[in-house]
Amino acid sequence: MSDMPAEHFRRSGHEVIDWITDYLTDIRELPVLPRVNPGDVRSALPSSAPEKGEPLDAILRDFREIIVPANTHWNHPRFHAYFSVSASGPGILAESLTAALNVNHMVWKSSPAGSELELVTMDWLRQWLQLPDTYFGAIFDTASISTMHALIAARDFVDPESRARGSLGNLVVYTSQHAHSSVEKGAMAIGIGQDNVRKIAVDDAFRMRPQALREEMVADLAVGKKPCCVVPTVGTTSTTSIDPVAEVVKIANEYGAWIHIDGAYGACAAILPELRSMLDGVEHAHSLVVNPHKWFFTPIDCSVLYTNRPDILRRALSLVPEYLRTGQDDSVVNLMDYGVPLGRRFRSLKLWFVMRYFGLEGFQGILRDHIAWAKELGQQIAAHSKMELAAPHPLSLVCFRMEGPDERSRELMDRVNAGGVAFLSHTVLNGRFAIRLAIGNVRTTREDIQRVWECIQAEACEL
Ligand SMILES: *Cc1c(COP(=O)(O)O)cnc(C)c1O
Repeated sequence: MSDMPAEHFRRSGHEVIDWITDYLTDIRELPVLPRVNPGDVRSALPSSAPEKGEPLDAILRDFREIIVPANTHWNHPRFHAYFSVSASGPGILAESLTAALNVNHMVWKSSPAGSELELVTMDWLRQWLQLPDTYFGAIFDTASISTMHALIAARDFVDPESRARGSLGNLVVYTSQHAHSSVEKGAMAIGIGQDNVRKIAVDDAFRMRPQALREEMVADLAVGKKPCCVVPTVGTTSTTSIDPVAEVVKIANEYGAWIHIDGAYGACAAILPELRSMLDGVEHAHSLVVNPHKWFFTPIDCSVLYTNRPDILRRALSLVPEYLRTGQDDSVVNLMDYGVPLGRRFRSLKLWFVMRYFGLEGFQGILRDHIAWAKELGQQIAAHSKMELAAPHPLSLVCFRMEGPDERSRELMDRVNAGGVAFLSHTVLNGRFAIRLAIGNVRTTREDIQRVWECIQAEACEL
């Protein structure tokens, strides 16, 4: 047996594109959350793989009849849970081309195009975010992995022997109580340890308190600990609160720590001149993560790690066996030198398609709409007699609750989600339940948000 015959591939390919087009055109008719029970998908599928190959038509039929109805539709314009991420048309097409090329650009020679397009798109995005030209970017799968790499660089920065000898138990990482769990996970994964992660207190708007950071650092130094990395967040996951980066950077630099800014979602909005000040201080930080797959309409996965000390990241991780040496090693960037994974997917292709298709103005227009709709919704919630805002909403996420016991808000969220019109998620703020409504899908319209708000009000009335 060999691969699909060309004519069969062409016919099925057209069919798949037609399916995608219809899916995205009619997606509003689907419930955002599927109505399935645990185990439904597994029990609908055979318990072992076929002995003999099957026709593609049969596979596609099961995709449509078993997989899609049990899918949570992340690309649905009324998916407002977690962060509302979306894959745009140009991004979807580029993903297919990536699979067709099947490039693994661990070294320049293994794909000059893959290696150089990554450098080009990283430089383009760097300019959109107005980062200094000392910032070098590399693409990873997720912010969790980008942040783990920042922590590895931080460890090498404060303890250059750690690469050879392993780390001592005295390194400390500082982040806020509202930081993403990936900071702590990264510290666990690289041997810094959970007990050496300090979660700095926050103010009423859920922002890291710089004075509390300083106190913790002083206390650690007094007992022989070494500040390794400080991680402020621009756009926290619970509420999109924005830590005071410039002040945090100043303090962290006094104590010689590496500063990594977690802007997985929020830093995308730094392409708006009116919001760029949230990254003030980045010029004196060491690294920043931003996820194009979060708010730049690029299909999952695409996370960017910028660092102005690529020399340190490389010093921490470059290890070149003989079989990966090439004649160009002295004159090119081999991206494998900047990370744990050897293999690298051609992720810059989709980012390049998306950046070119929308352009900076296109991106700015969509992000401004999302932020404006969040503001409008925030006003409507604040004016509602039974509801209240649970946090400020500086970007495109609104946190709110019903007045009265938390159970009511949970019930409201469950009812909206069960109805299929939208998918909302929750967090807990100062011990109280809050519903999160995130706006970020490229296909969401103001009418979608109004429809969700009507649905929320109707369910609230019933309660
Ligand atoms: C989503 C998010 C992450 C984790 O992103 P992954 O790419 O899923 O690992 C990290 N930090 C913040 C602030 C986030 O919002």
